[in-house]
Amino acid sequence: MQQSQFPILQSSVYGHPLIYLDNAATTQKPQSVIDALTSYYTSLNSNIHRGTHYLATAATERFEEVRRKVQSFIGAADRAEVVFTRGTTESINLVASSFSERFVGEGDNVIVSAMEHHSDMVPWQMACESKGASVRYIPFSDEGVLDLGAFERLIDSHTRIVAVNHVSNTLGTVNPVGGIVRIAHGHGVPVLVDGAQAVAHIPVDVQALDCDFYCFSGHKMYAPMGVGVMYGKRRWLDEMPPYQGGGEMIKEVTLEKTTYNELPFKFEAGTPSVGDVLGLGAAIDFMLAEGVANIGRHEMELHDYAVELMRTVPGMRFIGTAAEKAAVVSFLVGEAHPYDVGTLLDKLGVAVRTGHHCTQPIMDRYGIPGTVRASFAVYNTLDEVEAFVNALKRIAPMLM
Ligand code: PLP
Repeated sequence: MQQSQFPILQSSVYGHPLIYLDNAATTQKPQSVIDALTSYYTSLNSNIHRGTHYLATAATERFEEVRRKVQSFIGAADRAEVVFTRGTTESINLVASSFSERFVGEGDNVIVSAMEHHSDMVPWQMACESKGASVRYIPFSDEGVLDLGAFERLIDSHTRIVAVNHVSNTLGTVNPVGGIVRIAHGHGVPVLVDGAQAVAHIPVDVQALDCDFYCFSGHKMYAPMGVGVMYGKRRWLDEMPPYQGGGEMIKEVTLEKTTYNELPFKFEAGTPSVGDVLGLGAAIDFMLAEGVANIGRHEMELHDYAVELMRTVPGMRFIGTAAEKAAVVSFLVGEAHPYDVGTLLDKLGVAVRTGHHCTQPIMDRYGIPGTVRASFAVYNTLDEVEAFVNALKRIAPMLM
């Protein structure tokens, strides 16, 4: 893989070559993805599914081809189980709203982990509030490992669904989602997996995991912003009511009543972001050419090297040290505010994320205002890791 495939990585920031380590927030896009977008808008742009003319038919075929590509990428049994959304947040809101409408009632509970992104916590709080149900939280250890014993004690005959992330965006923990699914299914409870931080780093097979829902965003896996996926097992999607009303989700509308379209269209109201979906197809091609397992291995090599070098930085404190980790390093330097660390690194050309990373309960758990987070992608290099840690060493004395 050549960094030159990513035009933005050729940029300079404040006179320094850009070192982009904010990949958990969003990845940069390869030229092939940018080309897919340009080519859609220069030669194919048309609204899909409803037209009979050439462009409408061609755009619809390309759109549905990407659905098949996603199906195969995540190992779904049926392409009708792949629903396009705007991203992980919309995917989870769809499930929380629609699943709860049908299956959650007064006195029930939903179990989520205490290390969820707000996008996999707030929708459940909202759904439970409207249904008179409660949210229960799986606690985690100081290292950032979920307490599965506590999980088994939380689950009971009123638990309607469990929602957990595959990889924590703040701690980097890779959660044992297969085991969580087995425990939940032992109680007849379905599981939603938030895969936003996993799909670009770990080969995902939803049938092997046996999860009931799997949600992710295109923009964290080299695709454009504005497209994501909600995978759901047909047995649930068939029973769940539509999330939004409008074009494409209907079979027939009269003034009295509407009947709904078949899957997956029942959950795809309105004009989708067709160009972005085609960009997602190009991103999947890019990842398959690299090999998802190879990408993950490369990133972990960078992660392990970074952690080794960072240990020599005065005042270094890691947040999230689970044995099973993805390539996310959250840290603090002495008593310095994460924002100050991020701002100084930025002036040296290093882009990292600072703050609570949309996981305020994790910050409360550790009693800290936030962390600095470096996260790696396929295009990062060992030289960049060294430059990042050298920058940290340079700014450390200013922070003490
Ligand atoms: N879940 C996790 C674990 C995330 O890291 C993120 C984004 O950072 C989201 C959900 C929300 O993703 P999006 O903003 O693309 O909807």
